[in-house]
Amino acid sequence: MDNITPETLYQELSKNVIGQEGYLKSLCNAAWLHHLRYQHYKQTGEVIDKPKQNILCIGPSGTGKTLAVEQLGKLLNLPVIIENASMLRGEGWKGRSVSSIITRCIDSAPDKNEAEATHSIVCLDEIDKIFKSRLGDNSFLPVDNLLTFMAGSVVTHTDNNRTCKMDTSSLLIICLGAFNGLEGIIRERLAGKASIGFSADKPAELPQGSLLPYATEEDLYKYGISNEFLGRISLITHTNPLSLDNYSNILTQSTASPVYQYDDLLYKTLGVHINITDDAVTCMAQQAIDSNEGARLLARIATDLLQTQLYTVASDTSVDSIEIGCGENNCLVAYQTHLGREDLYGVFCIVSPELERKTLSSVPLSCIRGRNEIIELANSIKDASHRKMILSEEEIIADVYIIAAAIARQLLENNGKGMTMEHVGQMLDTFYDMDIRHQKYSCVHPLEHICVEYLTEAEKRVADWHEAIEDARQMLLDYCSAWLFNHGQAEL
Ligand code: ADP
Repeated sequence: MDNITPETLYQELSKNVIGQEGYLKSLCNAAWLHHLRYQHYKQTGEVIDKPKQNILCIGPSGTGKTLAVEQLGKLLNLPVIIENASMLRGEGWKGRSVSSIITRCIDSAPDKNEAEATHSIVCLDEIDKIFKSRLGDNSFLPVDNLLTFMAGSVVTHTDNNRTCKMDTSSLLIICLGAFNGLEGIIRERLAGKASIGFSADKPAELPQGSLLPYATEEDLYKYGISNEFLGRISLITHTNPLSLDNYSNILTQSTASPVYQYDDLLYKTLGVHINITDDAVTCMAQQAIDSNEGARLLARIATDLLQTQLYTVASDTSVDSIEIGCGENNCLVAYQTHLGREDLYGVFCIVSPELERKTLSSVPLSCIRGRNEIIELANSIKDASHRKMILSEEEIIADVYIIAAAIARQLLENNGKGMTMEHVGQMLDTFYDMDIRHQKYSCVHPLEHICVEYLTEAEKRVADWHEAIEDARQMLLDYCSAWLFNHGQAEL
């Protein structure tokens, strides 16, 4: 993302993380300062590690705490390490140690780039569980190690294979937790103050809704969080429980919506849309309110609902969209609409010469080696072509076999190295020019054998060889375009 400021970060984050303005704004400020530090370090090599930003966010489960941190990492283009703090153990004990986090930072940075590793975003989830652990406050727990880690120091980690060393001063550390039971402590304090009646900051009466915005360090201390830990936190923030409107907006506006995600996957790959009616949105949102699982429940409801449809949608090409609606008694139902959909590549079929060139030359097949991979690739093309076959029942297409033969042949000649779709395209041209079906191969190499197999198959099915080669070429282009499109590399 260009032009990173707290405001631009917030604009982006709030598109996906719904209803958490306060939390997102705190996060954006800290992230922006972190970004400034990171840029300065990259440009000058100088570390500015103060003021240190260690954030604590308290909030009910499934309200977007982790989602926001993940999204932030994408916007800043920095690694995000999410660690379940309750699984951490003191150094020397069996289990994950705090120092192991540095190896994750190093491994997550592209090319193990030092600047990115040392400026990773570390998210310590379930931090409250460390302090509430039944295991007792002994060296089994990693509290002391965590304090050193958060304060910023050179940490060394050794496991079986290697030793890593990293300064943690420049990490952005975000601690998250639901802190179940904390509201009771806040309520008690507020009610006490209300009855004694002398505190300047007491609300006139006990506030409605979540009490987490009123949490103080004193409450957290009472909860069991040590002062040493609180001393290393520069900002305490919270997320709100999600409202009916928030859940509805998550379903209809956020890319974190399960409906959006299923739609995205099925539309891009099968051309099938998933729609949801307003009634169904309200019904799902209400179910989420009634549970205390937060927005995670939405994904489970959607997945559960779509089971039958997912099972048949790939083979039933008459289905062009799936609707989530409300049935009797406001019961959620999913049903299919049958207008018939275009074949898989119908969407991608118009390809300009410019795009053709770009497409053909930029799909690398260099990773494809050996018989199994080739068969897999050829079969995936073949499977895709079945859709075409279903559309015109009688007309069995030879194209796919020709493509597969071209791929096999090309791999054979290049020994699988540095091959691109462009080579395959050339190969198809060669097939065209040489009328290659009349060539005889001696089956000395398994690839050659595959090539012959595919060509023989093609020969059996093809009426007009030249037309089939043309079709094959187009199909290869469509395949490449779809591949590029799905990998976000081409605007079609
Ligand atoms: P937690 O608050 O426990 O860290 P998460 O952020 O992991 O919860 O949320 C779990 C899932 O629920 C997310 O991946 C996302 O799909 C959905 N979700 C939760 N809160 C929100 C929100 N405020 N806006 C959009 N989606 C949300």
